[in-house]
Amino acid sequence: MNAIDEVFVEKFLVDLLNTPSPTGFSERAIDFCEKTLSAFSHMTLSRTHKGALLASLQGSKKGHERALTAHVDTLGAMVKAIKPTGRLLLTQLGGYAWNSVEGEGCTVFSASGKAFRGSILINKASVHVHGRQVDLKREDEVMEIRLDESVNTAEEVEKLGIGVGDYVAFDPRVEVVNGFIRSRHLDDKAGVACLVAATKTLHDSSQRPVHTSHFLISNFEEVGHGAAAGIPAEAEELLVVDMAAVGEGQTSDEKFATICVKDSNGPYHHELSQRLRKLADKHEIPYKVDIYPHYGSDGGAFLSAGGNVAVALIGPGVDASHHYERTHIDALKATTAWVQAYLLEDCE
Ligand SMILES: [Zn+2]
Repeated sequence: MNAIDEVFVEKFLVDLLNTPSPTGFSERAIDFCEKTLSAFSHMTLSRTHKGALLASLQGSKKGHERALTAHVDTLGAMVKAIKPTGRLLLTQLGGYAWNSVEGEGCTVFSASGKAFRGSILINKASVHVHGRQVDLKREDEVMEIRLDESVNTAEEVEKLGIGVGDYVAFDPRVEVVNGFIRSRHLDDKAGVACLVAATKTLHDSSQRPVHTSHFLISNFEEVGHGAAAGIPAEAEELLVVDMAAVGEGQTSDEKFATICVKDSNGPYHHELSQRLRKLADKHEIPYKVDIYPHYGSDGGAFLSAGGNVAVALIGPGVDASHHYERTHIDALKATTAWVQAYLLEDCE
C-alpha cells in the first residue's frame, strides 16, 4: 500500500467544502470533482442524465467489476415565499433541525445566477424586542432570511431578481485545528475526498485497481434517490463511502474509519463487510464497527431501486452530523487507506 497524500486530502476537502452544493444545485461541486479527477491517468469520465459524475478505472483483471460511491450534495434550503417585510421564507432540502442553522450566514442563488448574502434567523430574533425566545418552536413559518441588501418590501426583493425556488446554501465555516476539520457538510464531502484521494494514490504510484472500478459521485443522496441510478450494470459490488455517525451509544470515532453493518434500512452485505474487515486488519487500518439508528445511504437507494449488488458502507467518523460537523485527518487517512486496499484487493 502507498502512503496517502495528506496535504492533498485536506486541501481537496477544504476546497470542496467551500464549493456550495445544496441538493439539487450541486453542479459546481460536480465540476470541481470532475476537474480534479480528469488529471489522473486512465480515468474515463461521464455524467449521468441527472447530473452525477461517473469515473471509471480499468482493472488489471477482467470481471468482478465494482462500484464505489460518495455524495457531494448537502443539506440546504429553497426560497418558499417573499414576505411583505422583504424577508424570505424557506423550505428545507434534506433532513435537519432548523436550530442547527439558526444564526448561520447563507448565500441565495437567484435564477439569473447572481449570489446574494444573508443570514438565517427566527422572526423574533432581537432579545431586546421579543425577549428570550427559548420556547419558540423552530418551524418553517418562523424561520427567515435577512438579506444583506437594502430591501424592506417584497417588491424590492423581486427587483433584485430573487424569487420562489431560488437555492440557499449555508456557510460551511471551515476551520482546520490540530488535525480536526470543523465544517458543515462533511457529510459527505469527507467521503468524496477519501474516494478521490484513493484514486490519486493509485495514480501517483502508476497502479490500477485489480478489478475495473466505477466511482459514482452522487448528487441527490440527501433526498434519498442519489445512487438509485447511475451504478453500471456490470458492477457486482457497491462500496458506499459516507460519514460514520459519532455520538452517545455509538462506537464511531472522529479519528477512525467505521464500517456500518446495519442502518435504518437493515443489514449491509455480510460477506462483503467481512472481507472489508479482513482487509482493514491486514493493513492495520484503525476502524470501528457500528450501527446507525437514524440513517439511510445511497446503498439503500440503489437496493430499493432494484440494484443487484452486494453493498457495504464505510466512512470517516463525523461528530454532530447534520449540524455543525467535525472530523479528524486520522479518520480521512484511515478511510482513504481502506478504499485503496479495496481497489487493490484481488477477489479471486
Ligand atoms: Zn451522507
